[in-house]
Amino acid sequence: MSAVIVAIDGPSGTGKSSTSKAVAAQLGLSYLDTGAQYRAITWWMLNNGVPVDDAAAVAAAAERPVITSGTDPQAPTISADGEDASGPIRTQEVTSSVSAVSAVPEVRTRITQLQRDIAAAAPRGIVVEGRDIGTTVLPDADLKIFLTASPEVRAARRSGELKGKDAADLATTREALIKRDAADSGRKTSPLKQAEDAVEVDTSELSLEQVIECVVTLVEKAAAQKPEAAEQAAQ
Ligand code: C5P
Repeated sequence: MSAVIVAIDGPSGTGKSSTSKAVAAQLGLSYLDTGAQYRAITWWMLNNGVPVDDAAAVAAAAERPVITSGTDPQAPTISADGEDASGPIRTQEVTSSVSAVSAVPEVRTRITQLQRDIAAAAPRGIVVEGRDIGTTVLPDADLKIFLTASPEVRAARRSGELKGKDAADLATTREALIKRDAADSGRKTSPLKQAEDAVEVDTSELSLEQVIECVVTLVEKAAAQKPEAAEQAAQ
């Protein structure tokens, strides 16, 4: 398969991470979780006394942390200033602050550049998951997918993920999720939005395995349609 760049966008609870990782692993591609990058920069801000509700303070600090992502889909990593951030970025404190931090244009410019550099360096192609990958970060991606699901299904999936870690019940989870979606969709810079040329996959009624199978098929088709693939086939 020739190198392919795949953008997978959508709100939380649509199975984006599980799908993206599994598709990348199955096809031998790299994997980037861009939400983890925004969470890591948020965690760093919280740790370094930056008031996260003060957009000017966040903007002034945006260049300071070194955010590093490991792109092996079997074992993705994320660190801030060399410190493993994979655990702390999933805390409630980070989750409730990340939309404010990620709405700051200086943060987005910084993280977007990182994402483009990582995608350009991936030897066999990459699956990049996020909110604005197809619209802003990689508008020339070979394949753009927009995953959706009903708020009820998404809240149920999130509560399942959080079980044992957080006592948030379904209604609270649903509310928090809708609030975060509204903030991510309503921000000025690079909002959560489906790209015009994205394939929409509604995952409400599908199992994870079915979503993975559907996306793998779409990626294989996109790879086969690349000009390099056509040239190779003609040789
Ligand atoms: O995907 P995840 O829920 O981990 O993303 C956390 C947050 O990071 C989102 O709510 C959003 O505010 C931000 N984000 C973003 N753009 C992306 C990915 C995530 O603004 N491409």
